[in-house]
Amino acid sequence: MNIDKDTAVSLRFKVADLDGKLIEDSKTPMVYLHGGYGNTLPKIEEALAGKTTGYQTTLELQPQDAFGLRDESLVQTIPKKQFPPGIKVGGQLEGRGEDGKSIVFNVMKIKGDTVLLDGNHPLAGKALRFTLAVTDVRAASAEEIAHRHVHGEHGHHH
Ligand SMILES: [Zn+2]
Repeated sequence: MNIDKDTAVSLRFKVADLDGKLIEDSKTPMVYLHGGYGNTLPKIEEALAGKTTGYQTTLELQPQDAFGLRDESLVQTIPKKQFPPGIKVGGQLEGRGEDGKSIVFNVMKIKGDTVLLDGNHPLAGKALRFTLAVTDVRAASAEEIAHRHVHGEHGHHH
């Protein structure tokens, strides 16, 4: 069947930067609900619409079409004493942005008494090359459509 609104699409993907440096390789297919549910990037949905199992493509996306531009206001330096003990580089903290939305901050650096946090997506500001291979397309169930995500193997578990 062809990829259309309310199909569950299984996809192998690789993400690299434009120099070809591999950033992520899906070892197993990811499954997403097609049709503007925000399960994957709109540009990926656009490229796959109407295609079927076996289709492969490579997309080069600018940051604004991938994980967004960097927002330097999300880079913050906070005194270390405000954190619980055991904070370390590579850790994550959840905070709130000015609009009250929850933001995941990555601990970038700890220098003396200060901690440098970055609330940007790690891939924000990067142009990325996606290599996609469709491995399966099936109709989504009514329950999946109601939940706006795919269930089952490699899908959403709850
Ligand atoms: Zn669900």
